[in-house]
Amino acid sequence: MAETSTCTARACRAVTPGLVEACPRCGARVLTSRRVRILGWVLLAIGLFLVALMGYITLQTYDSFVRPGTSTAGGSRFTGNAEEGRNILNIFWLVIAVGVMSVVNGLWQIATGRRNLVLVAVSLLVAAVLVFTTWETTEALKKAREAEEAPGRILEPPPIPSGANPDKPQ
Ligand SMILES: [Zn+2]
Repeated sequence: MAETSTCTARACRAVTPGLVEACPRCGARVLTSRRVRILGWVLLAIGLFLVALMGYITLQTYDSFVRPGTSTAGGSRFTGNAEEGRNILNIFWLVIAVGVMSVVNGLWQIATGRRNLVLVAVSLLVAAVLVFTTWETTEALKKAREAEEAPGRILEPPPIPSGANPDKPQ
C-alpha cells in the first residue's frame, strides 16, 4: 500500500506521497499513513471487543429489562420498573453504537491510511450521547431508590424519651 503523509494543520491538510517528517507546503506536523493504519487496527480491536461484550450482555439481560420482575436464565432479576429497564437498554445500545463506530473508523483508516474527520466527529457525538444518557439514568435510578427508602423512616420506632428507663423497677 502506498504510504502518504497528511498535514495536521487545519488550514492546509495537504497530502504528500511517502513518509515525510513535516508538511512540505506549510512545515506543520504530519500524520503518516503508517501511523493512521496502526491506530486503525487498535480502533478495530477495541470496537470488536465492545460490540462482542456488550452484545453478549444485552442478549443475556434483554428479557429481564423488557419484562421487569421476571428472572433471567442466569437467575438474576431486575427489580426496577419498565422505564428504568428501557433506559438501561438504551445505554447498552449506545455502547454497541460506539463500538460499531470504532470498527468503521478502524476499517476506514486501515483501508485509506487517512482519518475521516466526519466519521471521527460522528463517533465523538455518539460517545457524548452515551456519557449524557448514562449520567441521566444513574441520577434517575438514584432518585427512585431514595423515594423507595423514604417511607421506611416513618416506620422506625419512636425514640425512648430521655429520663425514662424501662429496665428500672418502679
Ligand atoms: Zn501543511
